[in-house]
Amino acid sequence: MIVDRLGRRFLNLRVSLTAACNYACTYCVADGKRLMPAQSELSADSLLRAVTLLQQATGIDKVRITGGEPLVTPKFDTFLQGVMALSLQDVSLTTNGQLLLAKRDVIKASGIRRLNISLDTLNPMRFRRIARGGDLDTVIRGIDAMQALGIKLKINMVPLRSQNFQDIMPMLDFCLARNIELRFIELMRMGHLRGNKSFLVDFVSMETLLDLISEKYEFRRTDAPYDSTAARFQIPGRGVFGVIANESEPFCRTCTRLRLSSDGHLYGCLSNAHRQYIGDLIQQPSHKALPELQNILVAALADKQLAFQGEVTVMKFIGG
Ligand code: SAM
Repeated sequence: MIVDRLGRRFLNLRVSLTAACNYACTYCVADGKRLMPAQSELSADSLLRAVTLLQQATGIDKVRITGGEPLVTPKFDTFLQGVMALSLQDVSLTTNGQLLLAKRDVIKASGIRRLNISLDTLNPMRFRRIARGGDLDTVIRGIDAMQALGIKLKINMVPLRSQNFQDIMPMLDFCLARNIELRFIELMRMGHLRGNKSFLVDFVSMETLLDLISEKYEFRRTDAPYDSTAARFQIPGRGVFGVIANESEPFCRTCTRLRLSSDGHLYGCLSNAHRQYIGDLIQQPSHKALPELQNILVAALADKQLAFQGEVTVMKFIGG
């Protein structure tokens, strides 16, 4: 087993199916950047082969499909079907929800049970301003459709002081009414936000969020899995919300995540731009690929940090 001196090992794999996205969220994409697939993206079959080898090499038993926006790529259908057949303990998907209606039948047929949908506001004007693509009503109808299929949903919201601060409570009420766990994600200093003063302007801390929520609800901290990224809070009789507090309460010391980008690079840490290319390696027979992959994973694990410092890498490549 590959494990470091803090007892960290890789258990969760996030696979970015494509770097392309139909949004250009202000905090993810710098102005003027086009949302294209990465050069030399791996096929669905190659990504599935990579997941199979990583499962064998590390004992990874949870896979999250992400992007870019995973639903925009034609690879999505094949990859989802293939990954669901791998006998993993858990498969989940993170999407901006814009194409959930279009992909409803594929999602239903796959048997996937959990989805995270990113939604930063319920106000159509602010939605357009932040996402710079897509349509709010389509996302809400997608949420309804997934709930009608009995799929368990979480919603991710990135609170930004100058852009959607007034949407924090409406978003919480919307989620509580629908029995959806809302996850507030503290803004991360990724990509163009690193060293940029807009990070400081827009950052909303866990403390600020909890103060605001306490004006309306009583809540208490509740259980979260050992390697969870979220602090979770129970509002008695109403539901649960979480805060992914990478700045206020870093979770690096219990991080079990490994990331595979759509162009075949492994990242051991979101806060470290080091990466290892495995696109060629995965084409080899398992008896050759696995020992080499073990060495790469030792190096990727050593890339993990003790605290989140941000990185020049952008979420659109490595999927958050
Ligand atoms: N397109 C999909 C989506 O919208 O969920 C998957 C990829 S997106 C990069 C994954 C998550 O990362 C989204 O919830 C997004 O809000 C979040 N994200 C992107 N950049 C971020 C940043 N700088 N700080 C915090 N969260 C960020």
